[in-house]
Amino acid sequence: MADILYTYHNQVYANITNRCDCSCVFCIRSHKDAIGEAEHLWHEKEPSLEEIKKAIDEFDFTECTELVYCGYGEPTCAIENLIASAAYAKEKYNLKIRLNTNGLANLYHGRNVIPQLAEVVDSVSISLNAPTPERYNEVTRPSFPNAFEAMCSFAVMAKEAIRQVRFSVVDVLSQEEIEASFRLADELGVPLRVRKYA
Ligand code: SF4
Repeated sequence: MADILYTYHNQVYANITNRCDCSCVFCIRSHKDAIGEAEHLWHEKEPSLEEIKKAIDEFDFTECTELVYCGYGEPTCAIENLIASAAYAKEKYNLKIRLNTNGLANLYHGRNVIPQLAEVVDSVSISLNAPTPERYNEVTRPSFPNAFEAMCSFAVMAKEAIRQVRFSVVDVLSQEEIEASFRLADELGVPLRVRKYA
C-alpha cells in the first residue's frame, strides 16, 4: 500500500491522490516511485477519507506544526478529502495546513473552490512554472487550453482569501525566465519563491 503521509526534509506531507491535470516535464513522478522517507507513493486505489484520517492518527506529530498537502498528484483533484482531512488534522492535532498546488482547481472542478479551501488552508504555494502561456504549456502540458490564465487568476483570488499565498518556480528555468517570473508575480501582487529542483 502506498504511503499517505510521508516525511521529507523534516516536513510532513499528505499524498492523497495520484490524479493530476498536468504532465510537467520535470515531474518527479516520471522517474522515481517515492521521495523523502516514503517507500511508495503510487496508490493502487485512491485513499478514502477514513484511510487518510487513519494515517493522520497513526502519525506522531509531536515535533510538527504543519501538514503539507503535496504528493504524487495534484491534491485539489481530491478536494473533498483534502478539505475534510485538513479540517480533521487542524482540529485534532492543532496543525497548520499548507497546500502545494498547480492552481488549476477551479478549472478542474468547474467552480470556484477558493472559499472552501480558505476554511482550512493557512498557506498556499502555487506552481507558476513559467512566465508566459507558451512556456507554461510546454513545461506543464496541462489538460486545459487556458490553464496559464486560470492559474494566474486562481493565485490572485486565493491571495484575497488566504493569508499566505505565493508562487513558486523551479530553478531549472533560465535566469531570464526567472526574472520575467518575478516581474509577472509582482504585477499580480503575489510573492514568488525560486525552489531548488529536488
Ligand atoms: S502538477 Fe505536480 S504532480 Fe502534476 S505533473 Fe506537474 S509536478 Fe507532477
